[in-house]
Amino acid sequence: MKIYDVVIIGGGPAGLSAGLYAGRARLNALLIEKEKDGGQIVITSEIENYPGCLPEESGSSLVKRMSKQVETFGIERAADCVESVDFTKDVKVLHGKKSDYYAKTVIIATGAFPRPIGCEGEKDYIGKGVSYCATCDGNFFEDFEIYVVGGGDTAVEEAIYLTKFGRKVTIIHRRDELRAAKSIQEKAFKNKKIEFMWDTVVKEIGGDGMVQSMTVENLKSGEKKEIVADEEDGTFGVFGFIGYLPQSKCFEGILDLEYGYIKTNENMETNIPGVYAVGDIRVKELRQVVTACADGAIAAVMAEKYVSE
Ligand code: NAP
Repeated sequence: MKIYDVVIIGGGPAGLSAGLYAGRARLNALLIEKEKDGGQIVITSEIENYPGCLPEESGSSLVKRMSKQVETFGIERAADCVESVDFTKDVKVLHGKKSDYYAKTVIIATGAFPRPIGCEGEKDYIGKGVSYCATCDGNFFEDFEIYVVGGGDTAVEEAIYLTKFGRKVTIIHRRDELRAAKSIQEKAFKNKKIEFMWDTVVKEIGGDGMVQSMTVENLKSGEKKEIVADEEDGTFGVFGFIGYLPQSKCFEGILDLEYGYIKTNENMETNIPGVYAVGDIRVKELRQVVTACADGAIAAVMAEKYVSE
């Protein structure tokens, strides 16, 4: 039975950054990723808010370079999906679909994925008009029309943020009242750039390379309507904020969670010594590549200290 110094779960920027620091510290490290490296960032066509990235840098090209850099430090890799964990003893056990893994420390970098709007065509236009991150993609819609789907705190707050960019922001909500906190609602109702489309769901998104049209349905009247991009603009933005799906199922009842996100202190330590959480899976304000990478570095350094102590 091989006992690793550290096992990292997840190969997005947070996990890869943890892997880089663990490798440099000469820890006996394993990184487990169930699919391809990258997490959410691979669906981003342009990364302009990670230091050093020039306009031609895409999410997938950045991740490729990150993975290559990690490999140079010789950490082991496994393609597996962790299904359950046992953190009750000094040696932590991870039960994967294919194998079991043993570790002195564990860094969880499993991420959180935006819940898809669930309409036809959505997948085809991710990064081509459809987005789930206002901070990442808002400025691509400078002076364009923007549609925001959802009625919770995130949707309404992000819609307010997006008014910095779009000339008009329309919130499409499936009911006739918002779920968002009243204080947030008040700000949105006061904002002259924000309009509302009540009792409405998106049925289909279409276009020719970029989003150019969207079919919406009024759930009360059953009426369907096609929204077409302004001729001069040629496109518009569709931002989905209908909740996130943090990948924390196998830690429920074991780690302290808040709305499915793992609670940590500023050293990325969870409530269990030797177990760290980094990136989008942890409770935090700003979920970005730059903050994910910082989390990964901190956790790996803390894991190294834990192992040597
Ligand atoms: P949320 O509160 O779960 O809201 C999701 C919204 O999306 C709801 O309005 C919901 O409609 C709608 N929705 C869900 N599934 C849908 C579907 N299939 N089609 C169309 N619409 C759908 O999610 P969130 O806004 O991301 O917030 C998550 C948690 O973080 C919440 O507890 C929130 O309070 C918290 N949060 C707090 C702050 C803050 O305090 N500043 C900021 C952001 C988030 P219905 O209303 O009809 O269910």
